[in-house]
Amino acid sequence: MKSSIFTLGVIAPAAVLAFCRNDDFNLRAPNITNSQARRNLNGLGKRDLIPVAMYTHIMMAAPPTEDYGPSLQVQRDLINKNYAPWGFQFVDVGTMYYFNADWAANADALRKEKSSQVRRGDYAALNMYLVEGETAGFCFFPTDPAGGPVDQGTLDNDGCFVGIKDGRSATGGTLTHEIGHWLGLPHVFEGGCAGSDGCDDTVPQAEPGRGVMAIPGDFNSCAATAKESCTPGIKDNVKNFMDYTDCSSEFTPCQGGRMMEAWSWRMGRALAEGVTFKTLMKS
Ligand SMILES: [Zn+2]
Repeated sequence: MKSSIFTLGVIAPAAVLAFCRNDDFNLRAPNITNSQARRNLNGLGKRDLIPVAMYTHIMMAAPPTEDYGPSLQVQRDLINKNYAPWGFQFVDVGTMYYFNADWAANADALRKEKSSQVRRGDYAALNMYLVEGETAGFCFFPTDPAGGPVDQGTLDNDGCFVGIKDGRSATGGTLTHEIGHWLGLPHVFEGGCAGSDGCDDTVPQAEPGRGVMAIPGDFNSCAATAKESCTPGIKDNVKNFMDYTDCSSEFTPCQGGRMMEAWSWRMGRALAEGVTFKTLMKS
């Protein structure tokens, strides 16, 4: 099975991440220092993978005409391949379909209504909403534990929203990118040349790279057209999952450690008194 996924990755171009909307929400990326991030790398590779419960909510106007199960699994396998080096494993704990044209219109349509009705799990559970009419994606960063227990609104709001096409892609990096936000990563172009994504092993970048494969299926071939947007001679982070390119295929060590630190903001996080959540999916 793994070899067939690899073959697909070689022969088919990855989907370009057209647009990520995380910056629309004025969200603040977690304040995690480079050294905090790096500390989490100690022992990585010797630790067991951390299981992260992943609930998938599929919102469509009408039932699909084909079985989505296999393609959803291929994308989950890809996510897990991308996150395994950094210690995470996303465990499918349920997929639920909702046939509601209003909810399916796009991510924003009745967003709070739909997520508060269907969301499952505590603050450490990833709720992935695949919305039929959505063409971009966004996820919410974890909030700082210094701000106190998680309230009902924050819990209900949490999760990732992307289009169904990305959720079923065999090779696309969109979900990997969005989950990176859920685990505290900003874009590599955060703040432009004078800004920082909080990591010292990504180069400053003026804007989204939007690199495109020169050779279909070759993740190294975006480099040929990569910009040197901040420093002459230093190419943008064209292969980084937190840019927007066709060649998304890596996180840096600092990003990996930063995600582990952000995970500690989610795992075991206290909930405010009276906050409730559902667990199992409806059957
Ligand atoms: Zn993004």
